[in-house]
Amino acid sequence: METKIWVVDNIEDKSQFYPQISQAAELLRANEIVAFPTETVYGLGANATDTAAVEKIFMAKGRPSDNPLIVHIAQLQQLEEIATDIPAFAYKLMERFWPGPLTLVLKTKGKISEKVTAGLPTVAVRMPNHPVALALIQECRLPIAAPSANLSGRPSPTTAKHVYDDLNGRIAGIVDGGETGVGVESTVLDCTEEIPVILRPGGVTKEEIEQVIGKVRIDAALEDKTATPKSPGMKYTHYAPKSPVIIIEGSRTFLQHLVDEQRKNGMKVGILTTEENKDFYQADVVLPCGRREDLHTVAAHLYQVLRHFDETDVELIYSESFPVEGIGSAIMNRLKKAAGYQVIREK
Ligand code: AMP
Ligand code: MG
Repeated sequence: METKIWVVDNIEDKSQFYPQISQAAELLRANEIVAFPTETVYGLGANATDTAAVEKIFMAKGRPSDNPLIVHIAQLQQLEEIATDIPAFAYKLMERFWPGPLTLVLKTKGKISEKVTAGLPTVAVRMPNHPVALALIQECRLPIAAPSANLSGRPSPTTAKHVYDDLNGRIAGIVDGGETGVGVESTVLDCTEEIPVILRPGGVTKEEIEQVIGKVRIDAALEDKTATPKSPGMKYTHYAPKSPVIIIEGSRTFLQHLVDEQRKNGMKVGILTTEENKDFYQADVVLPCGRREDLHTVAAHLYQVLRHFDETDVELIYSESFPVEGIGSAIMNRLKKAAGYQVIREK
């Protein structure tokens, strides 16, 4: 299949990108799959009401079929067509965080394909905060199911090139709107319980949600990898570069010592660090990932840096760790998955 590419030079100027968007929307209406930018990562979209269209996503990504997809909408009115029994606190959250990186899990009305919800009684919905994504969804007048536009297991794409590298020839098109902003996926919040539960930490933090609606819980599976997650997708290894990643909890000296030991054994070792610490280390490849003093910059670059290691010949990657608060929770969740939960702690 030939993958069409539409380049949007100025994402703020709808009149300029409208012709490209309308071609992409036409393909979505014809039940083809198209990748597009959102404020978190690139999404791979399909008509969420059509099972054959949604099946194409699972095929292209190699995604396990028990892992449900998030439905993307552009207007509140679309929400009430697909979800029911929406609690008052969910409306408060929408008012504060939509459009934005917060996904709400609500009771489904059954209009969305069962392939999207993996047969669950619930549907996950969000309104993305990206002018291109919103214009595209509006133009095709459909709820759009869209997981991240990468091959299953690989780091999520934050540029159109990442999408191209993984999916060229497997999808109908890519709308290239430049680099995404947040860099990690949306927060997934289960709103079907009396006290809502964070199933996946992401772009909106627990602290920010609690400021609006008070206490929320965190799914036990996020802290204990032996527990069964309520969000089926969280059980899969994810976000991983080709070489193993190990997270180091300890000082820079401790990390450097581990690297030195491995290099003595002839291993080629990479280090994932930050701008503040990059000059401290010696290794085969040292890649800074944003600035420690602003963890949002770490989130924004994380997947890009994980992918960058694949272009080097390192055989092992040691990563610094980050504080598990604010956006740091999402960063550490993704890093731990990329590392298959391998952590070495300094004694
Ligand atoms: P992705 O589309 O790759 O960003 O992943 C979507 C995430 O949302 C996965 O972790 C899914 O398991 C989760 N998800 C989607 N729909 C539901 C649902 N109805 N209930 C719980 N989790 C969901
Ligand atoms: Mg994904």
